[in-house]
Amino acid sequence: MGRLPWTASPEELRRTVAEILGEATDRLDGLFRSPEPPTVETFLRPLDRILLSVRDVSAHGSYLFAVHPDAAVRTAGREASEAADRFFNAFRIDDRVYRALLALDLETVDATTRFMVERMRREMRRSGAEKDPESRARLVALNNLIDRIGNQYNENIARMDRSVEFAGPEVLRGLPPDFLANHPPEASGKVRLTTKYPDFHPVMTYADDAEVRRQLLGAFMNRAYPDNLPVLDQLLRERNELARSLGYPTYAAFALEDKMIERPEAARVFLHRVADRVREPAARHVERLLRRKRRDDPAAERVELWDGSFFARGYYDHKILTEEYGFDSKRLRAYLPYPQVRDGLFALCEELFGIRFHRIEGPEIYHPSVEAYDVTEGDRPLGRFFLDLVPREGKYNHAACFTVRDGIEGVQLPQPALVCNFLHPDTPVARARMEYSDVVTFFHEFGHLLHALFSGHVPWLYTGAGFMEWDFIEAPSQLFEEWARDPATLSRFARDPDTGEKVPADLLAQMKASSAFGRAQTWLRQVALAAISLELYDRDPTGIETTSFFRDVYGQYVPEPLDPDYHPQAAWGHLTGYSAFYYTYVWSLVIARDLLRPFLEKGNLTDPETAARYAREILVPGGQRPAADLVRAYLGREFNFDAFEAWIRADAAPAP
Ligand SMILES: [Zn+2]
Repeated sequence: MGRLPWTASPEELRRTVAEILGEATDRLDGLFRSPEPPTVETFLRPLDRILLSVRDVSAHGSYLFAVHPDAAVRTAGREASEAADRFFNAFRIDDRVYRALLALDLETVDATTRFMVERMRREMRRSGAEKDPESRARLVALNNLIDRIGNQYNENIARMDRSVEFAGPEVLRGLPPDFLANHPPEASGKVRLTTKYPDFHPVMTYADDAEVRRQLLGAFMNRAYPDNLPVLDQLLRERNELARSLGYPTYAAFALEDKMIERPEAARVFLHRVADRVREPAARHVERLLRRKRRDDPAAERVELWDGSFFARGYYDHKILTEEYGFDSKRLRAYLPYPQVRDGLFALCEELFGIRFHRIEGPEIYHPSVEAYDVTEGDRPLGRFFLDLVPREGKYNHAACFTVRDGIEGVQLPQPALVCNFLHPDTPVARARMEYSDVVTFFHEFGHLLHALFSGHVPWLYTGAGFMEWDFIEAPSQLFEEWARDPATLSRFARDPDTGEKVPADLLAQMKASSAFGRAQTWLRQVALAAISLELYDRDPTGIETTSFFRDVYGQYVPEPLDPDYHPQAAWGHLTGYSAFYYTYVWSLVIARDLLRPFLEKGNLTDPETAARYAREILVPGGQRPAADLVRAYLGREFNFDAFEAWIRADAAPAP
């Protein structure tokens, strides 16, 4: 941890951060004292180390802000990350740095270094480094303001979970036994359910009482409402202002320029193309849900959002899965204790990539429930990672892979961390069972984590995976989900620890037979959300009312209407981090389906030769080359839609 320990008090943290940033500023100024022309050794390498020290502050601060149990430390973490962001905002527009980068002789350097310098020059140009001093000062102030607004929006989401009180325990009808055990009635006889994931997802999937699902979804759709609506309005306004000042027509045009897709119009065409493929099978899926619902309620006219969940498989999806495919994810849950899933995942990675995991026992990191591991490849240390999987008050409430430290070969090892909310805080970790959908999410996030570990040995900060095209970064994680969906992989570790019984073969066969079920509808919703993120940022936001805007764009794709009382845009963290490019998930999925093909052609998801080639061509290079080049090197051709289309078509297959 060096100078940024987990155990620092808020005061110590503030002092250390101020010292590191002060030194970075002095060292940066020092680079321009020499009259000699800049070279890789006299300028680029020292610059990289300065930026790395500030990036460490940013990552450490953001991470503390997301996870620390002490609110005062979270606040100090947020301040640290904002101070580091301010440094970067000023750096990106520093004309001394820009001129030095232009003066570097790139004829004599290796291809990676040249690519990195060109990336830095472009980033600085995009930030306004070529503008006059007055404009640059205004841009720095604007970027700092945008960062503060974004952090405020995220902080509101983290602290504004809601709960709903229900009359008595009968509201829990349909939920699994361990869920019931965790939700005893309060002294008043009432039962309280929260919008945190370990409550929300099981209720939306299993609760028989539609009114319970309706009320909890209503609360979920109004997290951070109304507080975040003016914050979001301001974010849209300031980002539009920033883009206009830099000469771009909209913020989306600015944000997409350095992505694989490059232009808002290309993203729009892409989303329409995917929507055309998924719309029809999605409509048939909804008809199927309605037919099933009418068996419970013959007068039902439509499927409500709380009948088929907004995010994952919902109540009637689950009914059809159990009744028509015989697949009950609740039954699968018994075989998915967290420690076995985790160890099974580790064993899989050992087999695929020849890496080993070593638990670090010892002093508490920042909370006793957090696990830490070192990873090695042969004798070589690959990095360290953290698993923080239990919800807490004030903790980041979604699932994500954070960067705790960027890795640079010969300087420092990468340290990623998974921050998720899979495990109920009242259940001992050794006994905690996982939802199957959470196992898939765990694998997804672990795909990011593996990318961070393998790519954490690049020569420069700016060639790390964190600096590559952002619309590629979901491809490795979406690909890794496939191992969680693979019966052969799951059967290795899915076992009921109470009875010792392995997951029955029939349950796995049912899981496989039903795996395509609902796929088109899920991705139609993702396309709708992607369109909302794109359209919100691809216009002048003056006068936009985000609630009706969200509902209108959503309605252009998904026929089932959103309730006018829902305000999902108040708690959609991607609107800060991803801004206009939520389409990333759909775009990366098309790539991920193609990346899977060499494994499928081998007929074996654990083929070590294919896994080694995948790691070598896709994960290890990080951001040293354009993402499209990595994909081409691995596939031996350009990626295409074929695998994705075949995968979507499988949704049309009838139940066996
Ligand atoms: Zn992801």
